[in-house]
Amino acid sequence: TSFGYKEVREEEKSQMVGNVFTSVASNYDLMNDLMSGGLHRLWKDRLVSKLNPFPGMKHLDVAGGTGDVAFRILESINSVKRRALQDSPEDNLLEETQIFVCDINPNMLNVGKKRAQERGLAEDRALVWVEGDAEALNFEDNSMDGYTIAFGIRNVTHIEKALAEAYRVLKRGGRFLCLELSHVEVPIFKELYDLYSFSVIPAVGEQVAGDRESYQYLVESIRRFPPQEKFAAMIADAGFQKVEYENLVGGVVAIHSGLKF
Ligand code: SAM
Repeated sequence: TSFGYKEVREEEKSQMVGNVFTSVASNYDLMNDLMSGGLHRLWKDRLVSKLNPFPGMKHLDVAGGTGDVAFRILESINSVKRRALQDSPEDNLLEETQIFVCDINPNMLNVGKKRAQERGLAEDRALVWVEGDAEALNFEDNSMDGYTIAFGIRNVTHIEKALAEAYRVLKRGGRFLCLELSHVEVPIFKELYDLYSFSVIPAVGEQVAGDRESYQYLVESIRRFPPQEKFAAMIADAGFQKVEYENLVGGVVAIHSGLKF
């Protein structure tokens, strides 16, 4: 048949990812805090500080459903603005900031929109919520100053396509940043981490979210994700320059970055 093994696997993967996030959307924040001991907040802060957001920027946060990264970028831009206005009140920062939050799953976007409301950001014109696929972005070539993807690329079916799309939509000089669960290389810590991820995470998933399978899937997807060096090479293959990565907590997560020249 024309349905090769690989294709079937890929279709399964997309479906699985859809189901996983529909099922976890409502417990998402609690689970993140529980599983990372609250550390995901610091990791996202680090991601945004590497982005160096500025007023008037056009930014795309992919797989950003819950708005976690977008809210941080907006806060950072607002504090830059406040400082600039203090220094020279006659400056009018008219350039319109736009932060697009793109996610394939409408349930996750709804979680994000609700949180925006709770934070009093519902009316903020800078935030734009878009349903879309990282592999086929509905944005123009050379239109973005920045691109972030946090805990998202691991779930994308064809990582190369997502990277090619990131490259396409970025302007020259635009920055690509990816925060992802990665690979621990430190002996002993690695064994402890394996124990934690294979026993504790599915058990907590079952107890708290009533869904062992989805969390089992998350753990397996971390395993399958390319190691730091290999992923860096894929980013370079997509055309990015100055590709680097920073390990946090010994590689539990890594932030990869690249520039489009
Ligand atoms: N970035 C958020 C954060 O760090 O809290 C959410 C991360 S969540 C683990 C992964 C997100 O990726 C989900 O919201 C899921 O719907 C989204 N996703 C999965 N595949 C995607 C794709 N191909 N394109 C866009 N989003 C995708």
